[in-house]
Amino acid sequence: MACRDSAAALRLSSAPVSSLDERLAISEEFSDHKCVSHGPTARAGDEPRPVDLPRIERAVREILIAIGENPSRDGLLDTPARVARAYRDLFSGLRQDPARHLRRTFVDDSEQAVVVRDIEFHSCCEHHLLPFFGRAHVAYLPARGRIVGLSKLARTVDEFAKRPQVQERLTNQVADAVFENLKAGGVAIVLEAEHLCMRMRGVAKPGAMTITSAFRGLYADDAAARAEIMQLVRPRSAGC
Ligand SMILES: [Zn+2]
Repeated sequence: MACRDSAAALRLSSAPVSSLDERLAISEEFSDHKCVSHGPTARAGDEPRPVDLPRIERAVREILIAIGENPSRDGLLDTPARVARAYRDLFSGLRQDPARHLRRTFVDDSEQAVVVRDIEFHSCCEHHLLPFFGRAHVAYLPARGRIVGLSKLARTVDEFAKRPQVQERLTNQVADAVFENLKAGGVAIVLEAEHLCMRMRGVAKPGAMTITSAFRGLYADDAAARAEIMQLVRPRSAGC
């Protein structure tokens, strides 16, 4: 099986989508807020909504009660505050514009594809608010020698990941950011990740990897170029 085929074949669906009623209720709840978090696209110039730590604390306390726990027992007393601070960090990408890292480019005379493999990332599935984590492999073909610092690619992945996400959108957001900001000739992104919502609950399949890919420019248009770059960004877990 070719790498690209296995990438498509290994895509595993995860979560039951919330009911329409639930979604409508949530959208009403947030209709008075300026920033709606679905499909987040923080942009330069937008004033990000600050994290409401006390509100998270109240919600976590409610969850503890709802699952039958006693939030007043010793071990749980500080849990709501800890969770609130953890969420502030886990979702810090909602208040950032990850593409800013890609706006400072410089010129090199190389015309070879730039490949950064094995960028570790941690994200949180928006269906269950459980972590998914793995590695991103990023490749782009510089246009007119325009390149960016390698660490900037990792920072971009990291900040897009620190939002309530689905892996497909995360992959596409990274691809679009690199393609648009570097005006690259082509972009190929592969993400491989394990989802705790699949490992710990539901179908309970430990070790199942979800692989997603996104191609832009030359790598979207030209099958031979795509096959060539896939030799460099192929997922480890595909075993090829
Ligand atoms: Zn999930």
